[in-house]
Amino acid sequence: MPLDTKLMCIHDPVAQKEEIECAADIIRHGGLVVFPTETVYGLGGDATSAASSRNIYEAKGRPSDNPLIIHIANPDDAERYAVTCPCYGRLAKAFMPGPLTVILPRRDIIPTETTGGLDTVAVRCPSHPVAHALIEAAGVAIAAPSANRSGKPSPTCAAHVVDDMMGRVDAIIDGGECDIGLESTIVKIEDEDTVTLLRPGAITYDALCMVVADVKVAAAVSERLGENERPLSPGMKYRHYAPDAPLVLLEGEEYDVLAYLQQQQSTRRCAVLCYDEEVDFLPGALLYPVGGKDDLASQAHSLFRLLREADRDQPDIIYAHLPPKEGLGLALYNRMIRAAAHTVQHIPSR
Ligand code: AMP
Ligand code: MG
Repeated sequence: MPLDTKLMCIHDPVAQKEEIECAADIIRHGGLVVFPTETVYGLGGDATSAASSRNIYEAKGRPSDNPLIIHIANPDDAERYAVTCPCYGRLAKAFMPGPLTVILPRRDIIPTETTGGLDTVAVRCPSHPVAHALIEAAGVAIAAPSANRSGKPSPTCAAHVVDDMMGRVDAIIDGGECDIGLESTIVKIEDEDTVTLLRPGAITYDALCMVVADVKVAAAVSERLGENERPLSPGMKYRHYAPDAPLVLLEGEEYDVLAYLQQQQSTRRCAVLCYDEEVDFLPGALLYPVGGKDDLASQAHSLFRLLREADRDQPDIIYAHLPPKEGLGLALYNRMIRAAAHTVQHIPSR
């Protein structure tokens, strides 16, 4: 039986206190509310309620062993839900509120339904003013995975959420486009001086190294998991962010890649996630400009929207450039290599 989903538009959470209160009330009564964050839209429910978390998995169509991130209003609130440590304090001081999620030992107030059965819990303090106001008003941490149906790209604007979640949640808050457009960086604290990067995001490897002496990078960030390998983070084993058409990542000199694309588009319906500079050189192809070649922030911001748009146009194949692994490039690389099921094609120099 589909739910009667309430659509709310909140751009000023202070002036729109009543709307925030109404959404917070839904969370407190066990309901589900989709809300904007600086990374992507989240599908939120009371993190301390096993029933709410079960409903999140059902609304998303997500396997229930894939744990949820809990969202707190202030970095210090983590202590209520998890066991913190000085390393958490340093990370929080440097990067919170913001796009960093930290894995910590779980306290009993967080049910195992929320953590996919794990004894650890993922904690994040978002900087988006609407997210902050909602969590504060709810008075409890909000468990929220990305608000897409499982297997679709994460939603970066309310229209994507409406496509995926209408009738499956109690309310959707439209707060405009998400700034960053890729999900948070996730780290697990190993000891006071060591963290493992489980998912790259806008808080980059280099930024983490400024705060923690030893930053390890989980192999699954950029490589394919072996057949029987157990992932450090359950989400790593799922094929996420996948468009319907096959996505192929091209690697090679710019000139050679362009020549290859020009040749391919004459044989089939190609969608190309191209750099802005390439638009004039690819007449006839379905083009989705991702941003300037060196503008990784724009590319991150537009990736998921463009994957959805490319999919809607039903091409035979989608091509994109293989991103660099440096800086924010690593986050793009991680999302795209998985969306492409690790299909990378090297274009030789002519
Ligand atoms: P999403 O909510 O869609 O951004 O995905 C959250 C991801 O965070 C999951 O797919 C997990 O891989 C990861 N995660 C959440 N909680 C934990 C945890 N306790 N330990 C390791 N990874 C986690
Ligand atoms: Mg997700």
